[in-house]
Amino acid sequence: MRLYSTNNKSKFVSLKEAVIKGLPEDNGLYMPEVIPLLPASFLENLKDYSFQDIGFIICQALFRGAIPEKDIKEIIKASITFPAPLVQLNEEKSVLELFHGPSLAFKDFGARFMAQLMSYFNIEEKKELIILVATSGDTGGAVAAGFYKTPGIKIVILYPSGKVSHLQEKQLTTLGHNITALEIDGTFDDCQDLVKKAFLDEDLNKKIRLSSANSINIARLIPQSFYYFEAYKQIKNKNRKIVFSIPSGNFGNLTAGLLAKRMGLNVHQFIAATNVNDVVPRYLSEGIFTPRPSIRTLSNAMDVGNPSNFSRMEDLFGFTWNSFKNEITGFSFTDAETKEGMREVYKKYNYAIDPHGAVGYLALKEYQKVNKDCQGIILETAHPSKFLDDVQDVLSCKILIPEKLAMLANKRKESIKMNTEFNSFKNWLSSNY
Ligand SMILES: *Cc1c(COP(=O)(O)O)cnc(C)c1O
Repeated sequence: MRLYSTNNKSKFVSLKEAVIKGLPEDNGLYMPEVIPLLPASFLENLKDYSFQDIGFIICQALFRGAIPEKDIKEIIKASITFPAPLVQLNEEKSVLELFHGPSLAFKDFGARFMAQLMSYFNIEEKKELIILVATSGDTGGAVAAGFYKTPGIKIVILYPSGKVSHLQEKQLTTLGHNITALEIDGTFDDCQDLVKKAFLDEDLNKKIRLSSANSINIARLIPQSFYYFEAYKQIKNKNRKIVFSIPSGNFGNLTAGLLAKRMGLNVHQFIAATNVNDVVPRYLSEGIFTPRPSIRTLSNAMDVGNPSNFSRMEDLFGFTWNSFKNEITGFSFTDAETKEGMREVYKKYNYAIDPHGAVGYLALKEYQKVNKDCQGIILETAHPSKFLDDVQDVLSCKILIPEKLAMLANKRKESIKMNTEFNSFKNWLSSNY
């Protein structure tokens, strides 16, 4: 398998380099040179394949020998460890629950798979790999859980003190082993700055092997394509056209859906569902992509003003607006509308949906007003208990916290407090690794 950068389609790297480096030097994003069409025997008989089988078939076709079959099997077995059930709301709407992993959000799929791939490619290296992650909450939890106890890899998480929720903080600070949490006396941007400076610091890079668990790593995207097939498999009535409604921020999930379609999955349309951070829906209606500073909303994991996967989507559509528009329809919603959507889903279907999923619901409903003859699948990207106060407030009901989150409340937090000076961070890294 070879990958190119979206900024230079004539220079290729191996899967190993793309996964370990994360980002090409030219500031593009890595894309697979070939997106293979999967065999008809597979596409037509999905029901005969388990979720793990689906992951294996996709990787085998995509990696083209970059990793031996038996190793792919191990990687899949260790990363696809929880289900993605499809829950039907009514005849034409279902919800794909992607929150059954350790951090209760879909990011667990990408984080676990990336951990497995990185550790696989790192095996031959003598020096351990130190992965730096700045987090505003969610990503850190998924990465911590995904890399927990991964041999040869240490994780350093930087989070802004007092600015993540209580349970999010526990997800970062209670694991121990190879996971260390640095509690930074500053903002998320300060955390991100420290990480960026560390990557640019020559002394540091001579001494230790640094990498990032960035969300644009291709290893996070690949497993996200698996669950589109897994969803399709579970649809009972396949006579209608299938559309996916995808609550989006950086558009990783939607890009993974496009990959699934290129691999042969029979998807009629993708719906880009956003909150008021609507640069992609605007691009779809106006033809101009204008990044803007993000605005804080109820569905805060989608508060993105310059979606990082936009260039991957452009690349897939050959940089033409028309093809973009043919496959993706966009809608955006305010917080007031999102709350109304959450209440409606609860009242009509007795289903507690989180604010991100609610945006997906509203977009699907809007789409189906005009396109009546389709079967819609909403990606439910997080468990409602991750946004407990908001959800309970809006729905006036009690949400049960899943056991794996609830038990964190009693665990002891361990963090290292640090100021925003780069030298403090650098010295700490140098003396600990
Ligand atoms: C990250 C995240 C999103 C946005 O996903 P993208 O792939 O960045 O578009 C949506 N919902 C939740 C709960 C998330 O954590």
